[in-house]
Amino acid sequence: MSADDHKPFQHPATIAAAALGASRPEGGGVVPILNPATTYEKGNAHMYYRTSGPGLADAEAVLNTLEGGAGALLFSSGMAAATHLLLALGPGAHILAPEGMYWFMRDWLKKTAPAMGLEVSFYANTDLDAIRTGIRPGQTKAVWVETPANPDWAVTDIAAAAEIAHDAGAKLFVDSTCATPILSRPLLLGADVVMHSATKYLNGHSDVLAGALITRDADDFWGQVHAMRTGLGSTLGAFEAWLLLRGLRTLDVRMQRHSENALWLAERLSDHPRVSHVMYPGLPTDPGHAVAAKQMCGGFGGMMSIRVKGGPDAAAQTAKRTKLFFDATSLGGVESLIEHRGPIEGPDSPTQQDLLRLSVGLENAQDLLDDLDQALGQ
Ligand SMILES: *Cc1c(COP(=O)(O)O)cnc(C)c1O
Repeated sequence: MSADDHKPFQHPATIAAAALGASRPEGGGVVPILNPATTYEKGNAHMYYRTSGPGLADAEAVLNTLEGGAGALLFSSGMAAATHLLLALGPGAHILAPEGMYWFMRDWLKKTAPAMGLEVSFYANTDLDAIRTGIRPGQTKAVWVETPANPDWAVTDIAAAAEIAHDAGAKLFVDSTCATPILSRPLLLGADVVMHSATKYLNGHSDVLAGALITRDADDFWGQVHAMRTGLGSTLGAFEAWLLLRGLRTLDVRMQRHSENALWLAERLSDHPRVSHVMYPGLPTDPGHAVAAKQMCGGFGGMMSIRVKGGPDAAAQTAKRTKLFFDATSLGGVESLIEHRGPIEGPDSPTQQDLLRLSVGLENAQDLLDDLDQALGQ
């Protein structure tokens, strides 16, 4: 491709919608082709699918360009992406992770990672001083940040965390699942690798399980991560990669609508007589708002949580009474979801027992508010 060929692909909306040119296959079709081959004739760019494949490479190229990276890898799930990244640091590595994060990742870090040779300790989420003091010079190989973070959408300053990590010779890894490259680009703020559960917004249709890593440098460590994906065989399947690319094409417009709907709902729920607290970084009163306004652009995403008056029982009943919101786990799809997190995360979790997590979908915002209104009761 010449420099001119890249010109139409400068803007995120165009990169995504045109799938970076993959939507112009030979023969004139306007959608990317599904190529399920697992092996390729010698002399071509790919040899065997566990290492790399054409449709997989197309989806990886779109993500890499959106994040401004030097390489992208797709995995069979978000957990596969995250765990491969950490395990590639090697046995004995110390990882500093936030107390408030995607609960299953925290669970894995606490219960499984030590048995696999990693040492893990935790810092109070968003607290830069706690990151500074939690780092063990010489032993800490990576600081993990999730922002905005499950399930209270706390916002961590990526640029500041990167500086602290780098000063100590550690890498900064950012779980950017809920921001997506449309709203935030961690690599440009100093992160070394950005991770996504592509199951969520990147695919956006609740029909693919996938994970992504995008790196700032295609260095030896990145080679290790790729070798680990090939070695453990956790490459994303060709059909899933094709579906993910289909979903990615509408990412820009979906993130705008998710963000608009969520902000509108957050403002109205803030005044609701049955709601004691709304957690959403788009609200000027939210503790994470200033940092979010600095490092996100175009919106604050579609995730929010509310605490309801009346305690855990009222929260449980509200989730059961919604008609438009599905009472279901996961997030980032076109359909709105509501979930009472306490019973999911268990007694060890710091999550408040009256907290309901909302994944605000693409429905009409007034319809969503009406549904929450009737479910919350008067
Ligand atoms: C869902 C999720 C994950 C795990 O991804 P899977 O695709 O379910 O394996 C990790 N981080 C965040 C923030 C998530 O929402």
